[in-house]
Parts: sequence; structure tokens; C-alpha cells
Amino acid sequence: MKIAWIGIGVMGESMVKHLINKGHELFVYNRTESKCDNVLALGANKLKKIEDAPLMADLIFTMVGYPKDVEEVYLGENGLIKNAKSGQIFVDMTTSSPILAEKINKEFLKKEAYTLDSPVTGGDIGAKNGSLTVFVGGDKSIFENKVKNVMTAFSRTIEYFGPAGKGQYAKLGNQIAIASTMISLAESYMFAKETGLDLEKFLETISTGSAGSFSMTSYGPRVLKKDFKPGFFTHHFIKDMKLALEECERSGITLPGLELSYTIYNELSDEIKYNEGTQSIVKYYEK
Ligand code: NAP
Repeated sequence: MKIAWIGIGVMGESMVKHLINKGHELFVYNRTESKCDNVLALGANKLKKIEDAPLMADLIFTMVGYPKDVEEVYLGENGLIKNAKSGQIFVDMTTSSPILAEKINKEFLKKEAYTLDSPVTGGDIGAKNGSLTVFVGGDKSIFENKVKNVMTAFSRTIEYFGPAGKGQYAKLGNQIAIASTMISLAESYMFAKETGLDLEKFLETISTGSAGSFSMTSYGPRVLKKDFKPGFFTHHFIKDMKLALEECERSGITLPGLELSYTIYNELSDEIKYNEGTQSIVKYYEK
């Protein structure tokens, strides 16, 4: 099947590789062109412009950075909407704003085109292993009949949550859970370090008990190796927590754990936020 994909970053590159391995014909675009090199070498075709995507395929995925990027890619002057046609399907896998997902859905429906908001969790490892979890919002029958099967190339769990925006709400709820498990990793690590425990043995042991979590098993070993390379960029996580806090404010919800995590991450330097992964939270405690 012909598929277009916008956004070949940490996540997009691995997800596209799985689609190519399944035999799909890929048309790819990334703002920084060189990031497409690895997937082009595997047989993907290069798109010169974002607006060309709907000319080449009827199923178009996007995996960019921020809501402002999603808005530009979908609704911008030279965005996907320019050439969107009746019956085409656009799937945004970026972690973005639920309100924006609703707006994009409405605008594309005017062209009789469908959009799904389908953010993921599972990290860079989940993308590499093809074991991501996907949260889906949008038209249910389009999702079930036209998209779900394609998503199995890079996902282990795919759940439908309701109309446009609901995929993003589910993802923000997921990020709220992670906000506290990252604090749990950093604080238990610091306690073990300061009290002279064998850190490797400690993290390995608690990972198998009640304190275990994805944060512990995925990021704990990276902290031990002082590997702060981004699996999940710190600035993206701050973006997610900010989106969740905005939704809390709109809905009159108070979540002190989320607020604390947001404050801690914001104390990190810009150097860390834009170049390192979320495991760098330990640097807040080490300073
Ligand atoms: P990333 O490495 O920064 O990839 C994003 C890609 O999108 C970049 O290559 C970027 O191009 C491109 N892009 C951004 N804005 C664009 C625009 N306006 N037009 C065209 N291309 C644009 O980030 P990532 O880690 O793959 O994450 C992507 C999304 O998934 C984020 O929303 C993130 O929060 C979410 N997410 C990430 C993880 C994870 O563990 N990494 C897990 C779950 C969800 P440039 O190269 O030019 O910047």
C-alpha cells in the first residue's frame, strides 16, 4: 500500500522502517532532509514538499514535535490540507493538543477527508521493537477498517478512545502517570546512591517488585551508564506535561504530582532540555 509519512525523527524513523519491512511503499518528508537518509536507503521515496503527500498516497501519517508543528503541517498555507481529497485518511501520531485535533478534524471533514489523532507510548525502544501502544481518536469505522491493520506493523496495543481529540486526552493521561514514575526512579536512585548501595543490584532488584515501572526498567539502566542521549527528549516531555496542565486548568482539576514533576523538569538547563532524554531528571537531584 502507498503510505506518506511526515516527520522522520527518533520515533518516525523506526516506525517507517517497520512499514517498509511489511512491504508498504513509503513517501517520506522531514524538515531536516538528511534525517531521511536511513529510510531512503531502505527504499523509501523522498517527498520534496509536505503538500505533495496527498498527491502520492491516500493514507498519510505525521509524527512531528509540537502542536504548533502539527498545526503548520496540517493547516498551514502549504500544509496537507492544500491537496487533501475526499476519502483520504490523515493520522497524526504526534503528542499534541486535543483541541487542535478536534479543529483539524473539522477542517478536513469540509474536504470529506478523515483525520485520526493517534499518539503513542512505549518510547524509542518501543518504536524500534515495533511494540508501541497507540491511543486513537476519530472516526471509529475508518480506524477499524482502514488504519488499525497498518498500525500493527509498529504497535502491540492499539486502543480506540472515541471521537477526535480522545486519543490525545488518553495520551496526556498516560504522561501524567509517567510524570510521577520518573520522579520515583530519580528519588530511589539518589537515595540508594547516597546510602552506598550497589546501584545496579538495587535498580535491578526493585524493578522486579512492586516499585517496578517502564521508567525504572527503560531509563534506570541508562542512568547507571550515564547515557543521557534522548530516547525521549526532555523538552518533549515538558511539552506534554504543559498540555496536560492546560487541560487540567480548563477542566478545573488539580494534580499536585504533575505540577511537581513539571517544576522539577523546568529547573533543568536548556542544554539538557533540548539535547538529552528524560532520564536527565537525576541531574536535578545531583546539582
Ligand atoms: P524528534 O526526533 O524531534 O522528531 C520529530 C521530527 O519531526 C523531526 O525530525 C523534525 O524535523 C520533524 N518536524 C518537526 N516539526 C516539523 C515541521 N513543522 N515540519 C516538518 N517536519 C517537522 O521527536 P520524536 O522523539 O520522534 O517525537 C515525535 C513526537 O512523538 C513528539 O510529539 C513526542 O512528544 C512524541 N513521542 C516521543 C516518544 C519518544 O520516546 N521519543 C514517545 C512517545 C511520543 P527536524 O529534524 O528538522 O527538527
